Amino acid sequence: MSLFDSPAFEGHEAVHAFYDEASGLKAIVAIHSTARGPAAGGCRMWPYETDQAALDDALRLSRAMSYKNAVADLELGGGKSVIIGDSRTQKTPALFEAFGEGVEALGGRYWAAEDVGVSPGDLTHARRRTRYVAGLEGHAAASGDPSPVTAEGVFRGVALCVQRRLGRDLDGVRVAIQGVGNVGGGLADRLAAAGAHLIITDANGPQLQAVAKRTGAEIVAPGAIFDVEADVFAPCAMGGAISIETLARIKARIIAGGANNQLASPEAGQALFEKGLLYAPDYVINGGGIINVAAEIRALDRDEAYDRDWVDAKLARLTATLDEILQRSIDERRPTHVIANEVAKARLTDGRLGKAAA
Ligand code: NAD
Repeated sequence: MSLFDSPAFEGHEAVHAFYDEASGLKAIVAIHSTARGPAAGGCRMWPYETDQAALDDALRLSRAMSYKNAVADLELGGGKSVIIGDSRTQKTPALFEAFGEGVEALGGRYWAAEDVGVSPGDLTHARRRTRYVAGLEGHAAASGDPSPVTAEGVFRGVALCVQRRLGRDLDGVRVAIQGVGNVGGGLADRLAAAGAHLIITDANGPQLQAVAKRTGAEIVAPGAIFDVEADVFAPCAMGGAISIETLARIKARIIAGGANNQLASPEAGQALFEKGLLYAPDYVINGGGIINVAAEIRALDRDEAYDRDWVDAKLARLTATLDEILQRSIDERRPTHVIANEVAKARLTDGRLGKAAA
């Protein structure tokens, strides 16, 4: 298995593999950076076909968490864990307890939270063996579902982009939303309350109808969302919505939504910049969720309760960071996703320098 030669390796500080014969646990924890604080990021359970695929995913996702935590100005580094297995058939309490023992062995260098295939209930089992788990329910520090905070951050980001590009507020602005689940649905509610005209789609029919009913949105079929007349296109479903092919169809001048990994390729980011579209980098505009999780880690660390005011202050700072990135993109005539990566890397370097000076 290749680690240092993997294309996903980018100066990671540590990679740990955990195996427990009794429960069948096979897990990898990748710590990309602790320059700004303990590494934090979700635990994903997925039936990877090879160990290499699991390792590459942990490397890629942990680096992304370093960037996301840094642009959200959190005192957290980037980490991610993957459990190799099928979450539909291979989950047991013993498996997550063994995972918790692995996390505990890292002595607080990594905090785990939920991700694909892992629920708050699963993490409750891990919590029996370690305190370094966030995203649980039913205690004073608990942060609950992060989606409303993510949706609020995306809403503020959309409003900022509209003000900058169209010079107006949201009243009467046409927004096309792809995916109206937890984040997209919350975004739709906020936009409708601000007077925006919504065109929405979702692969889940009942969900789509429910959001349309409460927001007065127009409905289109999933394949038609790229063709609608809109000022803003908001990807809030799965990754890869913005490609060279879809860019040829999108009529909006602004792309701003909650989905992760919106750009199908770096070339798509360059192409949308050259077309003059304003793109709010995905991991900047959707940082509200990790801010909410960070509030729980902070509260657990200090033995305090969850602090909503702290979350609000961080959300305001996140919108200010997005504004800085949009301004630099204009001043330097370079794409926003490139500037966002530079801001994240600079904050990681500052963290490293700060640690060295301490
Ligand atoms: P969700 O599962 O609640 O909602 C996603 C919705 O998209 C679903 O209703 C699904 O039916 C729909 N969908 C999937 N493929 C589609 C397609 N091709 N066309 C139309 N609709 C489609 O998930 P969520 O929590 O709202 O997350 C949405 C996105 O935001 C994901 O990319 C996620 O990684 C990202 N994100 C979520 C959070 C959070 O706090 N939940 C934080 C940061 C990023």
